[in-house]
Amino acid sequence: MKKILVVDDEQDLLDLMEIILGAEGYQVVKAVNGKDALEKVDSEKPDLILLDVMMPIMDGWQVLRTLKKNESLKHIPIVMVTAKIGTEDRMRGLQEGAADYICKPFAPRDVVTRLRAILH
Ligand SMILES: [Mg+2]
Repeated sequence: MKKILVVDDEQDLLDLMEIILGAEGYQVVKAVNGKDALEKVDSEKPDLILLDVMMPIMDGWQVLRTLKKNESLKHIPIVMVTAKIGTEDRMRGLQEGAADYICKPFAPRDVVTRLRAILH
C-alpha cells in the first residue's frame, strides 16, 4: 500500500483528503505545517507528499527546498498545492523539483488522477 503524506494547515482539508485517498486504497499520514511535515517524512517515509504552500511556522517552499537538498529524501515526489495560480509560482515549483502542481480549490478526482500518474 502506498503511503501519502498530506500537509495542510486546514484541518478540514486534511480530513477530506484522508477520506478521498483512503477510499482509493492509499495510506494517509497528515501534517499541519512544514515543521510537522519534515518530522513525519523522517518517521513515516511516505511514497509521495501532497504539500500546501501557505502554512504557518514553515511554508511549503521551505519544505520543498529542504527535502530536495537531502540526498536520502529528494527522491520522494512532491505535489505542491496552493491557491496561488500565477505562472511564476508554477515555474518556481517545478524548477525547485516539485513533481506536479495543483491549484485550490481542486476537484478530488483530479488530485487522485495526478497522484496515480506519479505513483503508477
Ligand atoms: Mg494553507
